[in-house]
Amino acid sequence: MTETYKRVALIGLGLIASSMFWAMKRGNLVDEVTGYARSAETRAKAREIGLCDRVCDTAKEAVEGADLVVLCVPVGAMEAVAKEIAPALMPGATVTDVGSVKRAVIEAVAPNLPEGVHFVPAHPMAGTEHSGPTSGFAELFDGKFCLIVPMQDSDPVAVERLEVLWQDMGAQINRMEDAAHHDLVCAVTSHAPHLIAYTMVGVADDLRRVTDSEVIRYSAAGFRDFTRIAASDPTMWRDVFLTNKDATLEILGRFTEELFALQRAIRTGDGDHLFDYFTRTRAIRRGIIEAGQDTDAPDFGRVKRGS
Ligand code: NAP
Repeated sequence: MTETYKRVALIGLGLIASSMFWAMKRGNLVDEVTGYARSAETRAKAREIGLCDRVCDTAKEAVEGADLVVLCVPVGAMEAVAKEIAPALMPGATVTDVGSVKRAVIEAVAPNLPEGVHFVPAHPMAGTEHSGPTSGFAELFDGKFCLIVPMQDSDPVAVERLEVLWQDMGAQINRMEDAAHHDLVCAVTSHAPHLIAYTMVGVADDLRRVTDSEVIRYSAAGFRDFTRIAASDPTMWRDVFLTNKDATLEILGRFTEELFALQRAIRTGDGDHLFDYFTRTRAIRRGIIEAGQDTDAPDFGRVKRGS
């Protein structure tokens, strides 16, 4: 049987870290979870709500004696954090991360870890538009995928041990050996859609100055769903685009071409093109529901309807 972790250290105490903590508590998966966040305000809030068994005032103190250290900070902060904790890591410990980009995180973290410490990059494909220590909940990862992106020299036992933890926290595991492939897949499924949502909401915001409050009042027509995505944490998403530049630009290039084709179909009255396109895209939604990654309830399962 795979050995479980005794002490887990969470560095960064936002949505993902707090959800991991509650999921570990729900399953009684580890003996002790320590935590560290850079601001005194977040550490105080964590202590107040019982987030972590022990909240430490330094990252070094949090990782001392931990057999698993999880980096739960924005992608752009990973390198500095890795450098800071490196001298305090226990030999044989595993360091992992939850960053939304993998190539840049591997380049930032791996060279800074000491010999004898394992690094197993990972990315839980679950989130909400909320952030901070109070935003987490134990069920966040239930049924969702966690991508494990081991490096060529990642220790197989360390990889397996981390996979078991994610499964015990409710996630389904998928291994992706190629970090660049991970980044391209995420550019399609997450990063480009976020940028498009940010843009759409930005355009509507400009328009609002013309149409007054109409954009808000009639937002249920579709715009509201863009605003949910566009409310996501600005620091996290700034870092995602700065570190997954190539893949995001590749997908946005394709997006622009398709948009021009649809624009042309509208201008020329090519209904067949529009109908075929929308039929194809509808099938994708069905596939997501069949894979258990969303509900088929109308309006994303929002309960208050017609009242
Ligand atoms: P979050 O709720 O905004 O929390 C971020 C945490 O990182 C906070 O505790 C913050 O500390 C700390 N932090 C921010 N900048 C830092 C810096 N420069 N140095 C040290 N610590 C810093 O973020 P999150 O949503 O949990 O995201 C964490 C990671 O998970 C990111 O790498 C993100 O890409 C990844 N991820 C996010 C989602 C999602 O949907 N949110 C999904 C999958 C993966 P303070 O509170 O003290 O400022």
